[in-house]
Amino acid sequence: MDMKKIKDSLEKIKHEVVVCAKCRLALKRIKPVPGEGPAEPRFMLIGEAPGNHENELGRPFVGTGGRFLNEILTKFGVDRRKIFITSVIKCHPPGNRRPKEDEIESCLPYLWRQLNLLNPALIVLLGDVALKSVLHVQDNLADMHGSIVFWEGREIIPTYHPNAALRFPKARMRMQNDISLVIEELKRMQLWEKVKART
Ligand code: URA
Repeated sequence: MDMKKIKDSLEKIKHEVVVCAKCRLALKRIKPVPGEGPAEPRFMLIGEAPGNHENELGRPFVGTGGRFLNEILTKFGVDRRKIFITSVIKCHPPGNRRPKEDEIESCLPYLWRQLNLLNPALIVLLGDVALKSVLHVQDNLADMHGSIVFWEGREIIPTYHPNAALRFPKARMRMQNDISLVIEELKRMQLWEKVKART
């Protein structure tokens, strides 16, 4: 598919998400958060669901967890603007509760369509909800983080959600180790030049 078609289709998904009323989260959300990033990102981050700040601004990872994610990306020399960032769930669950199964089911088709269009070589899953929703596994994040999963022609590396990494030193240490594995993989796949920050 040419780039214009990809961009148009991404815009179409965005508009559908903005007016989506497929589940109860539509009743209380302020701004849905479709995700953001380039149309040909190579590398994609998938989180759980928008928090309070994301709900207000309609952008992914712009709250405390987002600032921490930015710090980690900067520390490892990644330019956030060169990766596509989204979440399994596009609307804020009230009180930041864990998304329910039926909400995940209603929302996942948007993510599958984004994945088909963006076709990233490497995906990083942030947290347990992303791990279980995308890979349909029951394994614990503690067992699966930092492993490379080959999935539909792509590599997936699960790691901790930035909010968990902020709260728990062990999760923080593991997440940082996992992100260094991500960088190694990007280098091995010769994708590093496309995502690294200019110095
Ligand atoms: N947590 C997520 O999983 N996604 C966001 O966009 C923000 C916080």
